[in-house]
Amino acid sequence: MRLQTIDGETATLRAEIAALPKRLAALETRLAAEGSAVEDAAKALKDEEALKRRLESDLKDLQQKIAKLRDQMSNVKTNEEYRAFQHEIEFGEAEIKKIEDSELEGMERAEQLAQKRKAAESELADSTKAVEIEKEDARAESAEQQKKLQELTKRRAKERAVVPEELLRIYDRVSSSARVTGIAYAQGQRCMGCHMGLRPQMWNQIRDGEIMTCESCGRLLFYDASREPKPLAVVEKPKKRAKKVREAGVE
Ligand SMILES: [Zn+2]
Repeated sequence: MRLQTIDGETATLRAEIAALPKRLAALETRLAAEGSAVEDAAKALKDEEALKRRLESDLKDLQQKIAKLRDQMSNVKTNEEYRAFQHEIEFGEAEIKKIEDSELEGMERAEQLAQKRKAAESELADSTKAVEIEKEDARAESAEQQKKLQELTKRRAKERAVVPEELLRIYDRVSSSARVTGIAYAQGQRCMGCHMGLRPQMWNQIRDGEIMTCESCGRLLFYDASREPKPLAVVEKPKKRAKKVREAGVE
């Protein structure tokens, strides 16, 4: 029973140890996602700045063109020519208005993007710090787990050394199958592992101190008189049973 307790603790510990790298990987994934949010915001902001420079340059070109047109307009001879220049200047001014509107919109977008980037950066900084702390905890936990595992392994070897080989063989076979436990208490004429009833003969032998295997689940059955519920009435019955046990033992 002590060996089974140790094996149970070992299985739980191994599951915890296996879960740790997954937990760390999830943290790294979260950091990576937040990192790319910062990059995305920075890239969008850079694109916005490039657009602004382009608009600025287009604006300058148009202003120069209009200044030139005004120069040329002062030398025209006919009304027709004058109107043509005026038309072209008006067209250029309308273009300038459009560019100025675009610039305003761009400034608003840039402002929002800068805020977004700042928020993403501070989120990333917070997470980086939190993840560092969690990693440090995980390292400490991992060291603790390894120490505990070594301890359990040592205790396991010690317990196995005192169990007869034949019983160990059965225990190992049953506990390595789909069932988790290799040994169970026999109690109230039942196997407490699978809850199936035991034949009277077997129940007697078990109570007589023999270690037997359950016929339905294969677990080693172990009897502990202190676990048996106190008999309600009739004091005679146990005596009869005790006699039977002796008879069974003779057989
Ligand atoms: Zn059973």
